[in-house]
Amino acid sequence: MIVRCDTPAEARAWCAAEREAGRSLGFVATMGALHAGHLELVRTALAQNDRVVVSVFVNPLQFNNPADLERYPRDADADARLLDGVGCQMMFTGTLEEFFPGELEGGALPKERLLDPGPAALGLEGEFRPGHFAGVATIVDRLFDVVGPERAYFGRKDYQQCLVVRDLARRRGNPEVVLCPTVREDSGLALSSRNALLDATQRAAAPAIHGALRATRALWQTGERDADILAAVLTRGLAGHGFVVEYAEVRDPECWTAERPAGHLEQAVALVAVQAGAVRLIDNLPLS
Ligand code: AMP
Repeated sequence: MIVRCDTPAEARAWCAAEREAGRSLGFVATMGALHAGHLELVRTALAQNDRVVVSVFVNPLQFNNPADLERYPRDADADARLLDGVGCQMMFTGTLEEFFPGELEGGALPKERLLDPGPAALGLEGEFRPGHFAGVATIVDRLFDVVGPERAYFGRKDYQQCLVVRDLARRRGNPEVVLCPTVREDSGLALSSRNALLDATQRAAAPAIHGALRATRALWQTGERDADILAAVLTRGLAGHGFVVEYAEVRDPECWTAERPAGHLEQAVALVAVQAGAVRLIDNLPLS
């Protein structure tokens, strides 16, 4: 039966006892409303560690839009059942105050206490969600402190987040960050907690995102390497489905810049963010 810790302090004690008993800890950070994508991260972690710990915390620090935070789906009991079902040993949560005891001012974490997320936070999500990656880096750093995992598992679905977390772990010297493939529906739509918020029309349109990514990869496979031409095909694939496109870019993951890349690409990943009504969806596909 899964152990549930309702405060970071309880979670810290549980993890410390496991580590002292010589057991390795794998960690998956989530915001709950768990789906098969999250569970795949947990399964991978279970295969590589003695114990797996999952945090479920809708982190206010990483929401630049209060309505998005308010609307975010939450069901901790259902999450616990799903985690128990795959054999996860511990799930924990907490409040912002409990994660940052004595550090909040007026219920918020002062800006100077937020971590610098580094250069991978430039552009794309960093541009459209100002402050998002500082919030991500700050909570992930704290979650790593609470759990002290040997390995932490993140989904490639949040591509830029993977870059930010990898850099954070490198700066801290721990844990090992394991990046896991995006889990999709048969339609190609990437699983996301936000999919539950789509209405029927938006839901029917959403697989077009993966369609546009695949069309871009098909063009790459014919030998096209120009960032603008690849991005134009990506953008065209997103048109006519009722999305408001925030970005549709093709980038070299090793040359991350604030600006939209131009010219010849040696290696590439295509990245998309759209608004489907009030729901924000992101996805990406490696081309090379
Ligand atoms: P979230 O609850 O959205 O913060 O996601 C928690 C973790 O699950 C992050 O590392 C995500 O990248 C990962 N994740 C979310 N959706 C998927 C998916 N469809 N496939 C693989 N990993 C995912």
